[in-house]
Amino acid sequence: MSFADLSLHPILINRLAELKYQQPTPIQLQAIPVILSGKDVMAGAQTGTGKTAAFALPLLHQLLTHQDNLAAQPDTQHINSTPITALVLVPTRELAQQVHSSIEQYAYGSSVTSVMVYGGVSIGEQIRQLANGTHILVATPGRLLDLLRKRALSLSQLTHLVFDEADRMLDMGFKDEIVEVLKRLPSTRQTLLFSATLDDRMLSFSRRLLRSPQVIEV
Ligand code: AMP
Repeated sequence: MSFADLSLHPILINRLAELKYQQPTPIQLQAIPVILSGKDVMAGAQTGTGKTAAFALPLLHQLLTHQDNLAAQPDTQHINSTPITALVLVPTRELAQQVHSSIEQYAYGSSVTSVMVYGGVSIGEQIRQLANGTHILVATPGRLLDLLRKRALSLSQLTHLVFDEADRMLDMGFKDEIVEVLKRLPSTRQTLLFSATLDDRMLSFSRRLLRSPQVIEV
């Protein structure tokens, strides 16, 4: 099966051809159709399986399709600041950089924007970057909470929430920060959780976050 068979947006199909991605990996084959259907997903997948594209491509597809629909309605009012539609939570700065760079690669040539924020660096520049808004925000939980408390961003328009390497986020003690972030998100949203392990701890954590998720393991 090819990426075109997964009915992804033509911008993405072209990018994947340019990037020489010949066919979807097993996690992509299983996760992409379920995510496109709008269901919540809990996926067990290690690094190197293509898990980033498994959530990034359907996310971008949904954003691009939404933009196409807006463009087809000439009366739509344009707002100056782009509202954050998707939040990707990651445990570390390194993963934030990898995920953000993958999203930028896949979204290249489109008008979809991504910003990343993480701790350990000055917050001022991140506040400036967020001032114009962004479609996708890739964030570590602690810095995101700092920014929310400073009212540097709003997540009130969010429709998609992704946890990447959720088990590492729990290992690193981010549970309380995540609970605080969740209080500031709309409850109607699509939530995707990716984790290397799907043990009892992850299942009980996920129960608060996901609605009738489809479980995928590769
Ligand atoms: P990940 O598991 O997300 O860390 O991805 C591992 C690597 O596989 C990354 O360098 C991706 O660019 C690459 N990759 C992901 N999906 C595909 C694919 N379908 N075909 C070729 N390379 C891929």
